[in-house]
Amino acid sequence: MVATDVRRDTRGRPPARGVAMRPRGGRIGPNAITRVAQALREEVGDAATRAVFARAALDAYLDEPPLEMVDEAQVRRLHAAMGEAIGTVRAAAVAREAGTLTGDYLLAKRIPGPAQAVLRRLPAALAERMLLAAVGRHAWTFAGSGRFTATPGAPSVVEIADNPLCRGVVADAPACHFHAATFERLWRTLVSPQVRVVETACCACGAAACRFELRRP
Ligand SMILES: [Zn+2]
Repeated sequence: MVATDVRRDTRGRPPARGVAMRPRGGRIGPNAITRVAQALREEVGDAATRAVFARAALDAYLDEPPLEMVDEAQVRRLHAAMGEAIGTVRAAAVAREAGTLTGDYLLAKRIPGPAQAVLRRLPAALAERMLLAAVGRHAWTFAGSGRFTATPGAPSVVEIADNPLCRGVVADAPACHFHAATFERLWRTLVSPQVRVVETACCACGAAACRFELRRP
């Protein structure tokens, strides 16, 4: 779903002015920037959003939103700037909303309707296995240079080892709200409306991998 997105979104536009062109590490789909911008505007307004993006040296992205994969370090920098500017609690809520919006985008634009209809008709456990496989095939678009694994079960678990969005980040509780909310939006729509996604271990807390439990009732 996301992989084909990126290619379709590539229209040869140059990177926004002032934004580093050559990432040193991995890359992540542009929703990790554009949906944060959207959610942040809703929360704090245009001026404060611009201040956060400027703090992360990414304000050019507000004028010319990225259409291609972005440097994962930029996404990490944006989350850090957001936490510094509006506090970690409020930043977590914005990250969560951005993840939900990313899920909405994938459902609206990238996961074909007939495939969604098939998943919704299947028993939840089977739909989940198929969705886990599909998400795994496209993990490079959201896990960057991290290593993604999926383990079906009760609950099923997805992990991102060495999550690039956590590198250098220290938190006393799991901090990957963007990823958790994206998974939750997809799972609630395609597997079961009661699914809760809970991050039970996080690289930002010293774990080797961010671990997300996909809890079905
Ligand atoms: Zn994490």
